[in-house]
Amino acid sequence: MRYHVWSIGCQMNTADARRMGDELELYGAEPAERIDDADVVVLYSCVVRQAAQTKVHNELEQLRRVKSQRPSMRIALAGCMVEDDVDELSLKYPFVDRYFSPKLDLPLRDQVFDFLDLDERYRLDPEDAERVHGISAPVTISQGCNRRCTYCIIPFRRGAERSRHPREIRREVESLARRGTREVVLLGQIVDRYGRDIGTTLPSLLADLSSVDGLARLRFLTSYPVDFGRPLMEAVAALPKVCEDVNLPIQAGDDTTLRRMARGYKVEDYECLIEEMRSVIPGLGLSTDIIVGFCGETEVQFQHTLELLERVRFDVVHVAMYSQREGTASPRLWRDDVPREEKKRRLHEVERVQARIAEEINQAMVGSRQEILVEGTRQNKWYGRTRNNKLVFFESDLPLAGQLVTVDITRATSWSLQGCPAELAVA
Ligand code: SAH
Repeated sequence: MRYHVWSIGCQMNTADARRMGDELELYGAEPAERIDDADVVVLYSCVVRQAAQTKVHNELEQLRRVKSQRPSMRIALAGCMVEDDVDELSLKYPFVDRYFSPKLDLPLRDQVFDFLDLDERYRLDPEDAERVHGISAPVTISQGCNRRCTYCIIPFRRGAERSRHPREIRREVESLARRGTREVVLLGQIVDRYGRDIGTTLPSLLADLSSVDGLARLRFLTSYPVDFGRPLMEAVAALPKVCEDVNLPIQAGDDTTLRRMARGYKVEDYECLIEEMRSVIPGLGLSTDIIVGFCGETEVQFQHTLELLERVRFDVVHVAMYSQREGTASPRLWRDDVPREEKKRRLHEVERVQARIAEEINQAMVGSRQEILVEGTRQNKWYGRTRNNKLVFFESDLPLAGQLVTVDITRATSWSLQGCPAELAVA
């Protein structure tokens, strides 16, 4: 049996796709590069914005063609396109054999088991999993979200917040580390809230995972401004393997817009939090998400977002044009009244301002010495990331994949740094 797992969207899909591949391999399945060669295809879909949803649709149309020629092929659709009621999807894509709801935390084994008529007697021990994943790998630690940001479809598709048990997470991280993964990125919709439902916390999980053999670094995302407490800041500062790197979406730099988004904080609260974080965590790398052209966003309100960028000076800003999602609150409350061209202009404006700020921040790192976790090569150069998540390129003839290397930074642009290895510190 040959399988093809495809994913788009957030890192949670990447993590689920990886686990699905591992699970299928325990039953002897082998990966197929192309859908044309696969007996079973699993798609991890995304509907957070229309652009992603369209790409999933196109992939499904490809599958329709392949399956019409090879009806024995089995197809499963997973991820956020899968609603509670799949009648509409079934009408549109009748060739899909199975839907995996992101609300159900069925063990993957149970999902594929009856889907593929697998025989439990022939399943390998997970200890025997062989496939090597990235030097850096995402691991989902909690699912779902209890908030109702008015633009966001995710809570409706992924359901209520629930945490995975720390023992299960540790086993997954150990299994990845055994196969060569050196960095794990812990994922949750609001990762800071990890453990509330099962009597534990993210700081205690970070402390526990710090003792996994072979693991060099830990990161976590995505954080939420209301939930990022002092104990988490202190854990990041105190635990050597936990990187000084926080992804904290603000979405808009204007209080009226934030209120309409139902984010539950004001710009000032956010900025106070950043100030505290930066004082507790020296060298903190900070990224954020911003939506431009939300319902009713005026030019003045948009300018407030640009001003915020100047004040906070993020390392990275992920910016998206507001995309109306059916089923969320905003279409019921307001019109999607910022024209597409104007949304585009605002998006480019954010990108322009941020490119300048990032270049200034990165330039200031020239001359510094950084610890890089080397992930691979691109155009004959090694690349990896600093603890605060800057991409660094450097040259060396040594086999360095997966190593921690000290690099002197020599050049910088808005997007990356260049450097020379100072000394080789093998961890
Ligand atoms: N938990 C995160 C949301 C994850 S979704 C949070 O606190 O916001 C990832 C990003 O997609 C969000 O940060 C947001 O910037 C963007 N996004 C979500 N819904 C969107 C929509 N309807 N239109 C445009 N961007 C959206």
